[in-house]
Amino acid sequence: MRLAVVEDDDGVGDALVEAFTARGHHADRMRRGADLLTAHRGYDAVVLDLGLPDADGLHILRQLREVSSVPVVILTARSDERSIVRGLRGGADDYVVKPPRIAELLARIENVLGRRPEIAAPPARIVQTEDVRVDLAARRVEVAGVEIALTTKEFELVEALTERPGAAVSRQQLMDRIWGDAFVAVSRSLDVHMTGLRAKLNRPGLITTIRGYGYRWGD
Ligand code: CA
Repeated sequence: MRLAVVEDDDGVGDALVEAFTARGHHADRMRRGADLLTAHRGYDAVVLDLGLPDADGLHILRQLREVSSVPVVILTARSDERSIVRGLRGGADDYVVKPPRIAELLARIENVLGRRPEIAAPPARIVQTEDVRVDLAARRVEVAGVEIALTTKEFELVEALTERPGAAVSRQQLMDRIWGDAFVAVSRSLDVHMTGLRAKLNRPGLITTIRGYGYRWGD
């Protein structure tokens, strides 16, 4: 398993990484919640402390849940029922009180992974919306039978929007997916690339802006 261990306490953090590594897993240590938000991709599960130097772990969890469903096990000294309920309601998959027993913690992580639904079927590779044809495998977009040249970012926007045509995609999801970070100032870049993409497609109404949320492809 690839694990992210978000823990500012060196004693606890080092012990966890060592224990996970000794059991054949790959574990990366992060000291701040913001580190997780910018680098959550590629992990099978996250062990999240609540008392972090830059933000409360529950706040970090809420932000993470807007863009990721990666399994999260909270590991904290807060053992009161209210904190546990808030953690679970806030999107944590499990909650372990410090000091952790490593074998138990790993068993809980594996348990959470086992409960995950299977990954959804791969999206359609050809999306045809009126006279706009997107071939995702070939990374080609044709408008009225003529191929248009898109930049990498523009194509990534098309890819994200056409995954589920007719469904809304939030700006945060787009920023997280394309720039790897929904929480820094990439908002302006998104606007720039969206404007460029719309101009090249030249099909007003194909990409609808949903005010205060994001965008929708088609319908
Ligand atoms: Ca801490």
